[in-house]
Amino acid sequence: MPAEAEIRDLVAVSRFAGSDLLLAQGAGGNTSVKTAAGSRLLIKASGFRLADVTGEAGYLDMDLPALRQIMEEPELADLAPLAAHDETVRRVRGLLPDEGGPRPSMETGFHLLLDRVVLHTHPIYLNAFTCSREGQAACQEEAGADTAWVPYAAPGYPLARAVAESCAAHLAEHGHQPTRIVLGNHGLITTSADVDTAIRDTRALAGRGEQFFGSLPGDACELGEPTSVTTRWARDLQAIFDRVGHAAVARPARRRALLAAVRRDQPLTGGPLVPDDAIYGVHLCRQLAASTPPADWLHEHGKAQPAEELPAKAVVALEGEGVVLVAPNEASLDFMEENLLANVLIHELIARRDQPRYLQTREVDELLAMESEQYRQKLAQRRGEPCRS
Ligand SMILES: [Zn+2]
Repeated sequence: MPAEAEIRDLVAVSRFAGSDLLLAQGAGGNTSVKTAAGSRLLIKASGFRLADVTGEAGYLDMDLPALRQIMEEPELADLAPLAAHDETVRRVRGLLPDEGGPRPSMETGFHLLLDRVVLHTHPIYLNAFTCSREGQAACQEEAGADTAWVPYAAPGYPLARAVAESCAAHLAEHGHQPTRIVLGNHGLITTSADVDTAIRDTRALAGRGEQFFGSLPGDACELGEPTSVTTRWARDLQAIFDRVGHAAVARPARRRALLAAVRRDQPLTGGPLVPDDAIYGVHLCRQLAASTPPADWLHEHGKAQPAEELPAKAVVALEGEGVVLVAPNEASLDFMEENLLANVLIHELIARRDQPRYLQTREVDELLAMESEQYRQKLAQRRGEPCRS
């Protein structure tokens, strides 16, 4: 059994990252703490917000040597990366007491490689580096030598392999493991023996991004009031869904930065920057003249009837007015909106200094196909909870 100290540390580090949208959005990001004897790993459960990790819920207490054995299985290295990922998911599931219950974060793999406390976040200021063309050079200049850079890899087993390679290279060059690992088109990992150092390093790197790109408006993440046109559009779309029995929810976006972005004369988003953009459908964003009725939009895309053909997820930017979000349920809408907000703010920062580096179509397709992602979405729909990481 883990000592109270481990649980207390896991809750503290999770609360830190979960309390700030600039550090983690939706259920993005994850945390873990290892017991001193190296026998147990306490890790955030897939599908929970970091802020929802408590002493009683939101994490799993796993057999650390058994997890390591799974991830280090030599035959996995012979499989294609995504097949290897599916295989690790299947084997990790075999360690769980309840087949239908919570699973450990799909990013468990890299937690096994690192120090006692692991804090993985998706900081908006740092992701302006990781999602821009010249970001690696700029970030390495800003972050200093003790920071490793891992080029983009799909979350799960492929990312764990990439982190392992980066740690080995860092060890060979510097004589010790990196404590700060920047992930291309994804986010940040900090790791330490104690919570305070992991938090301090995360703050420091996000701070370097803010210094380099400049600050965002103080109210960017706050809630504002959608326009009456946007509210009516969402209501009319919902009425169509209800009439044909389509189980989806439509509502206007409310974050101030999104309300401001549609007033500018440019697309709301240029494309997917990080894995969660693909998972939450940010890459499906459609620009529409605000005068286009919802029924015309649905007809235009051949999605009027029957209900199965209607979209389960969509982001519609009504030019000059607002954004309407469509998701399987209310809670998914919040996660979708937070990820869209991050995407728009990262674009805003990058535009000040550089050009975005988007995920490729192949990388988006790969993400959508991943078994863990499908699980997370299916589970969310079944429970009426958000699809989250
Ligand atoms: Zn992540």
